[in-house]
Amino acid sequence: MRTSEQYLEDLRRMRPNVYMGGQLVKRDDPRIIPGINVMRITFDMAKDRENKELFTATSQYTKRKINRFCNVSDSVEDLLNKQKMIRTGARLSGFCIQRCMGTDTINALSVVTKEIDDAHGTEYYQRFLEYIKDYQKKDLIGAAVQTDAKGDRGKRPHEQADPDMYVRVVKQTKDGIVVRGAKEDITMASYCDELIVLPTRTLTADEKQWAVSFAIPADWDKVYIVNRASAPRQRKRLKAPLNTHGSSDALVIFDDTFIPWDRVFMCGEHEFGGRMALAFATSHRHSYCGCKPAVEDIVMGLIALTAEYYGVGDKHHIREKLAHLAGIAELIYAAGIAAAMESTKSSSGTQVPNAIYANVGRRLAGENTYDSWGMVADVAGGFPATMPFEDDYYHRKLGPFIKKYTMRNPKVSAENMHRLQRTLSDYLSSSWAGVWQVADVHGGGSPVMETIAILNNYDFEERKKIVKRLAGIKD
Ligand SMILES: Cc1cc2nc3c(=O)[nH]c(=O)nc-3n(C[C@H](O)[C@H](O)[C@H](O)COP(=O)(O)OP(=O)(O)OC[C@H]3O[C@@H](n4cnc5c(N)ncnc54)[C@H](O)[C@@H]3O)c2cc1C
Repeated sequence: MRTSEQYLEDLRRMRPNVYMGGQLVKRDDPRIIPGINVMRITFDMAKDRENKELFTATSQYTKRKINRFCNVSDSVEDLLNKQKMIRTGARLSGFCIQRCMGTDTINALSVVTKEIDDAHGTEYYQRFLEYIKDYQKKDLIGAAVQTDAKGDRGKRPHEQADPDMYVRVVKQTKDGIVVRGAKEDITMASYCDELIVLPTRTLTADEKQWAVSFAIPADWDKVYIVNRASAPRQRKRLKAPLNTHGSSDALVIFDDTFIPWDRVFMCGEHEFGGRMALAFATSHRHSYCGCKPAVEDIVMGLIALTAEYYGVGDKHHIREKLAHLAGIAELIYAAGIAAAMESTKSSSGTQVPNAIYANVGRRLAGENTYDSWGMVADVAGGFPATMPFEDDYYHRKLGPFIKKYTMRNPKVSAENMHRLQRTLSDYLSSSWAGVWQVADVHGGGSPVMETIAILNNYDFEERKKIVKRLAGIKD
């Protein structure tokens, strides 16, 4: 397993192909470092005395100890541990731990490459096995490169005015394929090792050229990563762990990019496009059942601590909010546990979470995102949104005034009040918070996609039969 220092060294060695603000930048650009710092947690915890059991697993392929983020689940216990690790990781990062994107992608590939081979006599699963052994040995970070540009949302890929709106194969040779198109919103693209590309939707027989999946190093030739970084406002004096973390999301452009066959995991098998997209989405929505409870943990912590510091910790409306939020957090987490307990084995031996429980958990999380942050805003009052800049607190003349007038509870020091209110400001009114609140709604698919997944998997006819029996209706 790599150390976080080795990971950083590997990033520094990569060919620059990341663009920000119109410039080609290195992967250790200061704006990208906050995202890298979140990745470091995932390496450090695999060696941490208290957490290493949770953050490591035994590979079913090599029987070696690996970072759990590189693991393909082959038991209920694996799924439960993945979910628990993600909750722990997200608590440490203060928001998304991000690396589960790659975990869910390799889990999807492990399932669907085998199914394609079983149907078509292809050799994708064998390629996947070679790929995953190397991925695990090198302890790599994969970005999930799924969301296509998509163009007109009302039209299918083959109906688009521009066929490049979904990543597609434009040429096949004996050595490999050439792909063109762009994927949007790709988290970690600027600080991952590998870009793992999957289809984003179901595909018809007219859409074979869009049925493509492959994995390449992120600095591959003719790949451009147009990056956008976000992080809580940097601190000058009031250093805090949260303010060293952040994330990057990118538009990833494939400009007639050559992919050798040994890195291609689907090429033309349109009937598996939706299967691959959903296999990733189900695994990722199960991961959300770990990270969203952690976000609610932070929401509850902010509310309880703020109320205590403000002197209203015992008020009824605060306690009501906390009870409600505990219910939301643990119901999401319980849905993830149920998804693991009711999981099934795929033909390749991968343990696949139950789609209904993973989707209802993810849906509950998305529905409550803005309500939860609304409760924090309610308890925080207005000041965290309007408070003076950090430097003003240290101004020779004004600093003492600011400290005096921001005191609430005499038992809480001015510095701790400042720390809490600045953290509230980060979570409630920074551009970084805005990005992550949207991610909590759309990550893993927009809410309607969870609705569709639930409708496709749930047996409503069975419910009608229950009522018919109760009502004495005989058809
Ligand atoms: C911070 C962040 C990080 C992300 N990270 C990643 C990542 O790492 N990898 C990745 O692949 N993706 C990532 N995503 C993308 C995410 O998965 C998408 O945002 C999500 O799938 C929704 O797609 P979209 O943004 O194209 O929205 P759209 O699909 O444009 O949705 C907009 C609206 O149109 C509706 N709509 C769209 N199509 C239809 C239709 N056919 N029928 C009915 N209604 C429709 C939707 O329901 C929604 O209401 C990330 C997103 C965010 C915000």
